[in-house]
Amino acid sequence: GEHSPASSAPVDTHCPYCSLQCGMALRPVPPDGGPGDAPGGRPGGVEVVGVEVVERTAFPVNRGALCGKGRTAPAVLSSRVRLTEPLVRRPDTGRLEPATWEEALDRIAEGLESTGRAYGRDAVGVFGGGGLTNEKAYALGKFARVVLGTSQIDYNGRFCMSSAAAAHQRAFGLDRGLPFPLADVARTGCVVLVGSNLAETMPPALRYLTELKEAGGRLIVVDPRRTRTAEQADLHLAPRPGTDLALALGLLHLVVAEGRVDEEFVERRTSGWPEARAAAMAHWPELVERITGVPVPELRKAVTMFCDAESSMVLTARGPEQQSKGTDTVGAWINLCLATGRAGRPLSGYGCLTGQGNGQGGREHGQKADQLPGYRKLDDPAARAHVAAVWGVEPDDLPGPGRSAYELLDALGQDVRALLLMGSNPLVSAPRAAHVESRLRSLDFLAVADVVLSETAALADVVLPVAQWAEETGTMTNLEGRVLLRRAALTPPPGVRTDLWVLSGLAARLGWEKGFPADAEEIFEELRRASAGGPADYSGITYRRIAEEDGVFWPCPERVERDDPESAESVSAESPLADSPLADSTPAESPPAESPPAASPPADSMNAGAHPHPGTPRLFLDRFATDDGRARFAPVSHRPAAEEPDAEYPVLLTTGRVLAQYQSGAQTRRVGELNEAAPGPYVQLHPLLAERLGVDEGAPVAVVSRRGRAVAPARISRDIRPDTVFMPFHWAGPGRANTVTNPALDPVSRMPEFKVCAVRLEQAEG
Ligand code: SF4
Repeated sequence: GEHSPASSAPVDTHCPYCSLQCGMALRPVPPDGGPGDAPGGRPGGVEVVGVEVVERTAFPVNRGALCGKGRTAPAVLSSRVRLTEPLVRRPDTGRLEPATWEEALDRIAEGLESTGRAYGRDAVGVFGGGGLTNEKAYALGKFARVVLGTSQIDYNGRFCMSSAAAAHQRAFGLDRGLPFPLADVARTGCVVLVGSNLAETMPPALRYLTELKEAGGRLIVVDPRRTRTAEQADLHLAPRPGTDLALALGLLHLVVAEGRVDEEFVERRTSGWPEARAAAMAHWPELVERITGVPVPELRKAVTMFCDAESSMVLTARGPEQQSKGTDTVGAWINLCLATGRAGRPLSGYGCLTGQGNGQGGREHGQKADQLPGYRKLDDPAARAHVAAVWGVEPDDLPGPGRSAYELLDALGQDVRALLLMGSNPLVSAPRAAHVESRLRSLDFLAVADVVLSETAALADVVLPVAQWAEETGTMTNLEGRVLLRRAALTPPPGVRTDLWVLSGLAARLGWEKGFPADAEEIFEELRRASAGGPADYSGITYRRIAEEDGVFWPCPERVERDDPESAESVSAESPLADSPLADSTPAESPPAESPPAASPPADSMNAGAHPHPGTPRLFLDRFATDDGRARFAPVSHRPAAEEPDAEYPVLLTTGRVLAQYQSGAQTRRVGELNEAAPGPYVQLHPLLAERLGVDEGAPVAVVSRRGRAVAPARISRDIRPDTVFMPFHWAGPGRANTVTNPALDPVSRMPEFKVCAVRLEQAEG
């Protein structure tokens, strides 16, 4: 069909990028131009029909505000470099050349099947992405396990929040990024933001911190750099990279020493305190100062702010999580919350600020190596039986858990010889990227579905041009666990198909005519059944409810089973749902303590007479999701990074993000305005380091580790510790930060250590 507006009225939808999933509306712009007519035009003389962004103030998370990435996202829809036809590598020329969809899908089916036949099913791998909709994540996981019969599937979300997820599971028995609505952040008394630069990664969220401070609350930011976010803080602690765990232990030590433990809470709602307490007591403040570089008086100040407030929160992001001890590091911060009674209570708790758009939902529906839909565990017999029944297969036919993302990439060309990749660009985003590049090159067969010819797609044997966010419908689950509906505002351009259509076509070629519909809502209906009764229960969520309620928080079972007409409005500890990790059904946008119960949502439950469940904005208020309902302390101790500085590599490298780019930059590097704002990588370093090295502002600096070297201009700044340099990772080429990073993995979450490795600096050629 034509690439034309689905209708002429503005369509409510959400940003394609980060986990805030800001609400926006898209108004189609006619072919004769208009503000949405982005520069360029479609390749091949295709008519340009764009969309323009219209403010959507009613959506509660961002209330109309957008950052530059979201505001300019329509430009990628009409980008000159967008893929609009499949490409197949020709054996004679060795080049990617245009092909029909028939030929492209035939080639992929043949490539995957012949590899499986020759080397076994686990020789075929699948790599997904945290930006894929819930429906895609679900279909991809099912495709891998049912059609390909492989255990080898994981996704780039492993690089995003896996440590927080593992720590969440360990402490609370359930992992939802934020166990409360983001709006609660503005109403608590003190927020400790650990390793998050949200002023650049998700600017509209900054408003909640501003409101917090306006209401008299305090903000503590923990970051080795004085970022735009740290500038907002009442107290900025700048630990040496890789020592966030020790920092949390030092704070907990002071909490104990100053008699600020909430003994009653610890006694009633937790387990494991004696061991955790002993570990913290071994980290006395002076020792912690030596390890972290944070002076003892600042530690004391932080404890005072945190404990003096009536309620407080700890929010982590990639800083503490992307470490080879990420799970324990997050665990140490959770310990601090538990010891002070700051969890499972209104306006208090621990939360993770997920990164990717569907970082949350992407891990709940089966593209993670160890997980089945509904956030069920792949090695749990009951979970296997439930999902197998929905899929119409035998539980024994489902493979077991596979390798984690980096381990999967590391096995390419060896144990895993063919790969289907969707929604990811690991050649830029994976650690030790030059090695990953050579592993990708050594594959027998690589197929990539993407919207542009990313660095990874350029290596493929077959490239499939797929639809973008504004051209297809699907659900996303934001950082709060709020399930949202992205709606199509345009039909895809000719030659472009959706990821779901691709999976449907491949499944059919591999003998599965049924079970892989191309329609998102049809898949969502199956996802509801597959998730029913699981930790992330979506069975009560429908497209209609999401549309009417502006999102529904999971867990949301299909109905409240009690005969009491009140029950839909007040899911409490006495309800049958007390068995699941819920507690509170008060509206997300009002304070939980004093507010009236939630209004009953529309009754479109499939079961007449039953009460629809309201969804669960706030978790754990009555009990945690562990077997005994108690939160578990983690007995964690400090340990060094996998690679500490030495004489040869004396400086620490930490990596991160900038305001105008998103992840591997595959989309945002193709937007003129964003490229102007952030044209390339840089090396941020302290004047003392710059002087020792003899480089001036803007001079090229080589950052060299045991894995390789990256070169970028110096940006000299006092906003960073003198023992540390920083590089943003959004670019390929000579300035690719991930050439240098360390793939050492966390033993629990299998998260690589993006945030700390040892490097030396050299002057480089301009
Ligand atoms: Fe999009 Fe995130 Fe920016 Fe919001 S903050 S507009 S979701 S990139």
